[in-house]
Amino acid sequence: MSLAEQFPAITQRNQPLAPYTHLKIGGPAQYLVQPRTLEELNAVLAACRQDKLQVRMLGGGFNLLVRDDPLPGVVIRLTAEPFTFLKRSGRRVVAGGGGQLFDLIAFCVRAGLGGLETLIGIRGTVGGSVRCNVGDRTAEISQTVRNVTVLTEAGTVQVRSRDELTFREHASDIDEPVILSVEFELENDLPAAIVKRMRKAWILRKATEPLSFQAGVRLFRNPPGQTAASLIDRAAMTKAKVGAAELSERNSNYVIAHPGSTARDILQLIALVRDKVKQRTGVLLEQELHVW
Ligand SMILES: Cc1cc2nc3c(=O)[nH]c(=O)nc-3n(C[C@H](O)[C@H](O)[C@H](O)COP(=O)(O)OP(=O)(O)OC[C@H]3O[C@@H](n4cnc5c(N)ncnc54)[C@H](O)[C@@H]3O)c2cc1C
Repeated sequence: MSLAEQFPAITQRNQPLAPYTHLKIGGPAQYLVQPRTLEELNAVLAACRQDKLQVRMLGGGFNLLVRDDPLPGVVIRLTAEPFTFLKRSGRRVVAGGGGQLFDLIAFCVRAGLGGLETLIGIRGTVGGSVRCNVGDRTAEISQTVRNVTVLTEAGTVQVRSRDELTFREHASDIDEPVILSVEFELENDLPAAIVKRMRKAWILRKATEPLSFQAGVRLFRNPPGQTAASLIDRAAMTKAKVGAAELSERNSNYVIAHPGSTARDILQLIALVRDKVKQRTGVLLEQELHVW
């Protein structure tokens, strides 16, 4: 029995992924599954193990490029309440992995809990944001993470404490298939002080990103002590273009997918930029954007 036959209420076959990604690019997934409960998620993963189907987790698609061709296997989105909840206990907040980072930040600000507010404006789910250790030079989400509850390949729920996890710029060593929830430890603070820091961070972030109507994603990690954008500019690749994909004039470390762009255009542009930066500055840029 196929996955669609086993889980008809939550499975879509040959579902285009473009609408679920920020770039609005990407071919169809063999199966797109949106489980309603942990039990259902477990049953889907067990069926995937049995049928040897590759499983991929899709968050908000803000750090993701999906290739143009059909994608074999199963893509899972955690959109139901058991995966998007927010719960507070003193200075600790537990957030479902499928919930929005924005909702988590707003929840903490309202509760007078500081620590996440300077991440305002970074879009994504809690799971995707912790897996990608979002942040900037001033703060990273990992600073407030206390533990991460994951679902392992074998289908068991495990809690990984902060001491067991390794985070680096825009990356973590969390390699289990699913981040179910994350517990954060925050600081009590005056809401007015938190809001002030949040406003400042918002203004700074928005000034260095593509305009809000543009479909743009970040390409490379910043090498220590340098920014990927300045290396790209030094390599004379400002506003470089392949097909309808073009580097942002506001920040060269973002690619803008103009209407008609394909994943192929973006992958070619990434390769071109990386080669030119290596040739002209000697630095090999490390890709931040996840590609399926
Ligand atoms: C305009 C713009 C500005 C940005 N600015 C910043 C910035 O300032 N700082 C910064 O750090 N990032 C920034 N980003 C990158 C992006 O916002 C983050 O990486 C984002 O948090 C990714 O979360 P997501 O839910 O969209 O993950 P996705 O893009 O959907 O997925 C990314 C990876 O996480 C995995 N994943 C997603 N959910 C789960 C889960 N529940 N369990 C296990 N794995 C999962 C996916 O499989 C994939 O490998 C920016 C992006 C854009 C488009």
